Amino acid sequence: MKIIKKIKDMQTVSKKVKQQNMKIGFVPTMGALHEGHLSLVDIAKKKSDFTVVSIFVNPTQFGKNEDFKSYPKNLDFDIKLLQNKKIDVIFTPNTKEMYSIDYDTYIETPELSSVLCGRSREGHFKGVCTIVGKLFNIVQPDVAVFGEKDAQQAIIIEKMVKDLNWNVKIITGKTIREPSGLAMSSRNKYLTNEQKTDAAQIYKAIKMAEKSIKKGERNSNKIKKLIKNIISKKQCLKIDYVEIVDKQNLKPLNILKNECLIATAVWCGKARLIDNITVFC
Ligand code: AMP
Repeated sequence: MKIIKKIKDMQTVSKKVKQQNMKIGFVPTMGALHEGHLSLVDIAKKKSDFTVVSIFVNPTQFGKNEDFKSYPKNLDFDIKLLQNKKIDVIFTPNTKEMYSIDYDTYIETPELSSVLCGRSREGHFKGVCTIVGKLFNIVQPDVAVFGEKDAQQAIIIEKMVKDLNWNVKIITGKTIREPSGLAMSSRNKYLTNEQKTDAAQIYKAIKMAEKSIKKGERNSNKIKKLIKNIISKKQCLKIDYVEIVDKQNLKPLNILKNECLIATAVWCGKARLIDNITVFC
């Protein structure tokens, strides 16, 4: 396994791999890896001949008052985990390498980015699209794997790839959870054990919603209320949003139909936790 820090070196390796007619599988991450990230690596390995994982905490996707500076980092441990997975390359550039001092080009998806997490994290998806676009240009993947955990992100990336005619197949991997149901996240490191126990209530709430939908409930407001009531039982949880949207276009649904995304963002102490499920009606 190679660790590459320079864009030029990564481009040279990718070019060589392509010349050998091998497929490149790519998993972009911000490091502090957990089983969720590793499950995406497994998918990338299955779907390609050469696997690249990037580790880069991208400053342009963090708002001014967000946790860019304190974002968990553990590169040595990440390297060990990826060595065990037998991937081919870790691409881990520094900020200067990715953003020159006069950097001035951004990618935006204004419609899809104006809802859900985009509403409380202005500019977040512009930063995400820009870094993913840059990484795609550098790594030249045939296949890139993203987590369902960040459903809005995966949907936006798929739209960007389609609109900009990138020749990359986007695959999504299911959300990996703690035994309690809490979705794994690098930001769970901000939580105490007690907070982790309380945070498991988020998944309980959306699963209860799923149950009520399976029984026939289709009224979005009623379902959102049910979720909010269950989450609010834990004092330390502060709801940012609970939304039910059409999974194709992220438009809000009053009456559930087709493929629906039930998505939440909830503050627990210092951590803003997101989770979602997809239901078919
Ligand atoms: P991050 O390092 O948080 O930027 O995440 C990198 C990739 O891992 C993204 O595509 C995330 O959606 C995905 N991911 C994060 N948490 C999980 C999880 N619990 N299960 C599956 N994928 C995840």
